[in-house]
Amino acid sequence: MRKIAIYGKGGIGKSTTTQNTVAGLVEAGKNIMVVGCDPKADSTRLLLGGLAQKTVLDTLREEGEDVDLDDIVIPGYGGVRCVESGGPEPGVGCAGRGIITSINMLEQLGAWDEKYEIDYTFYDVLGDVVCGGFAMPIREGKAEEIYIVVSGEMMAMYAANNICKGIQKYAQNGAVRLGGLICNSRNVDHESEMIEELARKLGTQMIHFVPRDNVVQRAEIHRKTVIEYEPEHGQADQYRKLSNAIDSNEMFIIPTPLEMEELEKLLIDFGIDA
Ligand code: ADP
Ligand code: SF4
Ligand code: MG
Repeated sequence: MRKIAIYGKGGIGKSTTTQNTVAGLVEAGKNIMVVGCDPKADSTRLLLGGLAQKTVLDTLREEGEDVDLDDIVIPGYGGVRCVESGGPEPGVGCAGRGIITSINMLEQLGAWDEKYEIDYTFYDVLGDVVCGGFAMPIREGKAEEIYIVVSGEMMAMYAANNICKGIQKYAQNGAVRLGGLICNSRNVDHESEMIEELARKLGTQMIHFVPRDNVVQRAEIHRKTVIEYEPEHGQADQYRKLSNAIDSNEMFIIPTPLEMEELEKLLIDFGIDA
C-alpha cells in the first residue's frame, strides 16, 4: 500500500486536489482510503456528496473507547473509505497529537485490514504551520510519500520550502520522501517555469500543472469532484493526468530546501519583474 500525504499552505487547494486525484485513481480501479488531517474536517466533503462526517476525535469524546469502525469510516464516491480525524477542543490540546490519536485508533480497529485491499491511503494535512504536531504523520512513519501543493505565489512557495525542511529532517532516519510538487495554478506569470525551477532546486519534479478553472467551484457547490460532476471536462482530464503521474511516479527524494535569498531570487527572475 502507498501511504501518501498532501501538504501545502492553507487555501492552496490541497483538499480539492486530493479528492479529484483520488477520483481519478478510483476510475483506474484503485481502492483508496482518505484521512483528513485538518481540524476543518473538509477533506472528504466532495467524495461524500457533502455529508458532514463525524470526526474520529468527536466520536472518541462522545462515545469513549467504544467506537466501531463503521462510525468513523464512511464509504464515498466509488467506495473510497473516508475519515476525518477532526481537531481538539478549541483552545485545548495539540491538533497534531489528535491526528496521531485518530490514526492509532483506526489501526487498532483494523481499518487497514488486508480484506479491504487498500492500494492507497491519502492524508490531507494542514500545512501552514510546520510544527512538530502537523509533522506527526511524517514523524511517525504514517505517511512515506509526500506531495506539496504550491502555486507561483510567494507565500505558497515559502510554505512549500518550509515543508521541505520538515521532510529533510525526518527523512534522515525514516522512510519519508518527497514525490513532487503539484502546481495548482493561480494564473501567475511564468508560473509553470517558476515552479519547475523551484522543483529542480529542491531536487524534485513538478509532477503536474493543474490549471485554474471555475468548473472546480461549480463542482464544489454541487459537492462533487470535477471528475464526478463533469467527467468530460478538460479539467477532469487534468486530474486524471495527475492521478496517472502519481500512480507511475518513481522519483522519491530527500529535498534540499532553499535559503530565503535563493527563493526571493527565483521570484525576481521569473516573477513580477521578468
Ligand atoms: P486547502 O485544502 O489547501 O485549504 P481547498 O482545497 O479547500 O484548499 O481549496 C480552496 C479553494 O480553492 C476552494 O474553494 C476550491 O474550489 C478552490 N480551488 C482549488 N483548486 C482550484 C483550481 N484548480 N481551480 C479553481 N479553483 C480551485
Ligand atoms: Fe498546535 Fe503544532 Fe503546537 Fe500541536 S505542536 S499545539 S499542532 S502548534
Ligand atoms: Mg483542506
